[in-house]
Amino acid sequence: MGSRKKVHAFVRVRPTDDFAHEMIKYGDDNKTIDIHLKKDTRRGVVNNQQTDWSFKLDRVLHDASQDLVYETVAKDVVSQALNGFNGTIMCYGQTGAGKTYTMTGATENYKHRGILPRALQQVFKMIEERPTHAITVRVSYLEIYNESLFDLLSTMPYVGPSVTPMTIVENPQGVFIKGLSVHLTSQEEDAFSLLFEGETNRIIASHTMNKNSSRSHCIFTIYVEARSRTLSDEKYVTSKINLVDLAGSERLGKSRSEGRVLKEATYINKSLSFLEQAIIALGDQKRDHIPFRQCKLTHALKDSLGGNCNMVLVTNIYGEAAQLEETLSSLRFASRMKLVTTEPAINEKYDAERMVKNLEKELALLKQELAIHDSLANRTLVNYDPMDEIQIAEINSQVRRYLEGTLEEIDIINLRQIQEVFNQFRVVLSQQEQEVESTLRRKYTLIDKNDYAAISAVQKAGLVDADGHLVGEPDGQGFGLGVAPFSTKPGKKSKSKKMFKEQLSSSARKEGASSPLSGKDLDVSTSKTQLTPSSKDGDVKDMLVRDRETSNTEPLASDSPKEELRPPRPSTPPAKPVAFEDFKNERGSEINRIFKENKSILNERRKRASETTQRINAIKREIDMTKEALNLQKSLREKQGEYEKKGLTIIDEEEFLLVLKLRDLKKQYRMEHQDLRDLRAEVQYCQHLVDQCRHRLLTEFDIWYNESFFVPEDLQMTLKPGGSIRPGMMPLSKIVSLGEDDQDRFGQLQQTTLPGGPDSVSFYNAKVKMEQKHNHLKTMMGLQQAHRK
Ligand code: ADP
Ligand code: MG
Repeated sequence: MGSRKKVHAFVRVRPTDDFAHEMIKYGDDNKTIDIHLKKDTRRGVVNNQQTDWSFKLDRVLHDASQDLVYETVAKDVVSQALNGFNGTIMCYGQTGAGKTYTMTGATENYKHRGILPRALQQVFKMIEERPTHAITVRVSYLEIYNESLFDLLSTMPYVGPSVTPMTIVENPQGVFIKGLSVHLTSQEEDAFSLLFEGETNRIIASHTMNKNSSRSHCIFTIYVEARSRTLSDEKYVTSKINLVDLAGSERLGKSRSEGRVLKEATYINKSLSFLEQAIIALGDQKRDHIPFRQCKLTHALKDSLGGNCNMVLVTNIYGEAAQLEETLSSLRFASRMKLVTTEPAINEKYDAERMVKNLEKELALLKQELAIHDSLANRTLVNYDPMDEIQIAEINSQVRRYLEGTLEEIDIINLRQIQEVFNQFRVVLSQQEQEVESTLRRKYTLIDKNDYAAISAVQKAGLVDADGHLVGEPDGQGFGLGVAPFSTKPGKKSKSKKMFKEQLSSSARKEGASSPLSGKDLDVSTSKTQLTPSSKDGDVKDMLVRDRETSNTEPLASDSPKEELRPPRPSTPPAKPVAFEDFKNERGSEINRIFKENKSILNERRKRASETTQRINAIKREIDMTKEALNLQKSLREKQGEYEKKGLTIIDEEEFLLVLKLRDLKKQYRMEHQDLRDLRAEVQYCQHLVDQCRHRLLTEFDIWYNESFFVPEDLQMTLKPGGSIRPGMMPLSKIVSLGEDDQDRFGQLQQTTLPGGPDSVSFYNAKVKMEQKHNHLKTMMGLQQAHRK
């Protein structure tokens, strides 16, 4: 198995009284056949230049009995089939050369029976010799005539598909003919009956359908399936033996065919030449595509030519001078066939049912074994079955008690139980995490530590100052502040968290309060209302901020559900951080995306700049080292006395190489430096873009937030684009203090809140619009530039 094997090609010469002794000579090795053409026979098709040919085959069967032919040609192939190897035996040659005689033999004479009946006999004999195996044999008989498929056993009682026309179907198991009847044969006699039936049908069909039987290909297939009779063996082998009696190989010109006969002859020549093409392709190691589908014959034999089967060719020839041309062409075909290699392999399959039974048996045995071990180790009542719900619940409770400290230890029972304990640890842990988080959520609003924009929004809303400290309301009400135990997003940066903790504690100390890390609420009484972003690139921290009751509205119930933003407008506005999330997903999504993109470009440029700096430092170090080495060389040279030639100092090779190296390093240094300069400029520019985006994001959010939740709907008309005022321009508290009856006071309000009175409204409107447009353009340009790089 697994090794390549050459196809065996034999020649069988039909006995004749008129054997051309002068033209056909056999070698002493019984393998060689030499052909010599006499001058006067050199006519027409045969190559004028060549008169001598020598063919070496696996055996020349001259005057060989049917018995010897079978022994030589078929016996091994058939016996291998019972071990699971596919086999193919083909007879090739011109009409009358003895193909049918070789394959089927004389059906009326037992002694002269051919390969086919002998193969069947061998199969049943081998079955008898193998009582350990249950072997089934099936047969089918296919005829291919004029590219049509005929079932030569269709007249037999057969339960199965009786559909016509038949088709050739390929599946992973191989090729089969859909619609071809396959007959189970439990004994030799049945098989013979089928063979004779097929032979008779072949003859009848040739008469009734006016077929020329020498122009059809016949494939008799024996299917073998061998299973071990012992239950333990779930493997079984299958194989098929194809016995192929090909159509006459004579060429068209000779028979002077016309009309129907011409059509037939063309077909035969075609399918045989396709067979030849396939054989040539199979013999060429470099070819990976074999043209099997060109005709029915090669398609039907696709998995029986080459591939994983044992393959044998018998070339039948006449020994007479008049047939020498055809003989030559048949021998050429045989030589080509010899170039084909196959890789016979066992067709092994698995019986799923048996496999399950075997595994069950083994399982039972292993359980018994375990029970014995347990009793030897004095362990009783150990159950190895999969755990049920009650047992799992018990383990869960054990784990909980263990974590609480009420259970000292969990006893180890078996592997399954250990695995379940670990499993329950995971369950309990994730439940606890959820509990803690939901407790915190009831009390606080959690903001992603890395979400700078949200933090800034909180800062802007006046909830925390630049350092992340909470800013209290003027009425002195305090806000809880702490570091979230879990980040709401995975992959948080522990470094920044640590930095933030430090920042928080130092600020807390400054303010004289206890460390926020202690978990206690922090009271801060400063009354800052406007805040600036704390860091340049938005690396900000998680924090817990208690929902802030803005202005004079009713306080939110601590566990009230998150409000829908719009419509309808909620009676109490959502917390700014929450609203900010919504804003970023909706109206602010585009600017938020640009902001993020800019940030990532900035980070990437920064990284590159730092890498370049590192490289520059490394080059610098090397320059210094090279300089030192060069100085050493120089001083050595000076000590030893210098050579001079025509006023030039002669230096040695080592020094010369150092000079070269130094020159290269300096060049590299300059290039890297230039890169760094460029990168720094880019970083600066990107930083600028990021700042602008952030600014815009927050401005827009503010506008949206006020518009959505605070500005009385009637007033919104004034505030809409084209209106006289933008909501972001005045402190929120003043806008929301406008009652419905106070609208006429709005004009007054404008005067007091806008730096330049009501006249400045259009000015500020224009300014804001221009700024926004400008920022947007700049951002887009910056992005485009960054993308181009
Ligand atoms: P093919 O199938 O190649 O057309 P057949 O097998 O029908 O040729 O052979 C033609 C005739 O020659 C048949 O009558 C057959 O019995 C006879 N014949 C062929 N080969 C032998 C042989 N080796 N010994 C005896 N008779 C043979
Ligand atoms: Mg024949």
